[in-house]
Amino acid sequence: MRQMRSRNIICFGCAQIIEVQSPTSSIICPKCGYEMNTKQYYEIVDFARDAYYFGFDYRRAYEDQLMLKGSLKTHYYLAEPFEIAVFIAAAVVSGIIGNASYDVVKKAVKKILGQDTTKDYNKEVAWLLSLTENEQQYNTLVAYIKNFCDNLEGLHPDIKDAIREEMMVTKVQEKLMEIMGNPTKIPTEEEKSNITMKNFLNKISKQKAMTKKEHEKLIRKVESDLWKKKLKAEDFNDFWKYLG
Ligand SMILES: [Zn+2]
Repeated sequence: MRQMRSRNIICFGCAQIIEVQSPTSSIICPKCGYEMNTKQYYEIVDFARDAYYFGFDYRRAYEDQLMLKGSLKTHYYLAEPFEIAVFIAAAVVSGIIGNASYDVVKKAVKKILGQDTTKDYNKEVAWLLSLTENEQQYNTLVAYIKNFCDNLEGLHPDIKDAIREEMMVTKVQEKLMEIMGNPTKIPTEEEKSNITMKNFLNKISKQKAMTKKEHEKLIRKVESDLWKKKLKAEDFNDFWKYLG
């Protein structure tokens, strides 16, 4: 979840991955001197995480299910994306919402991959590490992230609904953590396999002293914020200027 942020951050000036102990209001890259506003940094990184997690990971999972089964019956609960995947997504977003060129973004992605921070080697990591060598693979990732930035416009309605529901569950849970300052119990593996908005809300209403009205209000707020545009082209000005 968002609360368990990694200590590593990506410098938006030179694409260096740096370890930050306790970020203050701004972060200065020890390699290139590029300064980032911490709040804005996390707005970009959180959006990039959503773009990768929901717009790419979940979408692929549901597309596979639809292709194999003909309809969507099973909900997934996918693991949070790897740190480098989030950083790669941030670079890609800088070219979609911001004005970073295709070549510069790809160079940043290459540099991120060269600093691989994943601990386990599995299929997903292998896929990520071969990203810049495989043009088709890279372009698919870019296209999916772009579609997420466009609010999944034109996507198969069943897949769009499934992704929307995953986002709602995650965002409501995050909001509850924010409000209550105490995370709701993380669902067990068994619960994860069939988590829906309805059973999730039933579960939290049993755990927490929140009235039905307060719940409904919270859900409406999350829903109205779901596709709200938060990032603008100018948020990415100066990105990768020290990439070399
Ligand atoms: Zn830097």
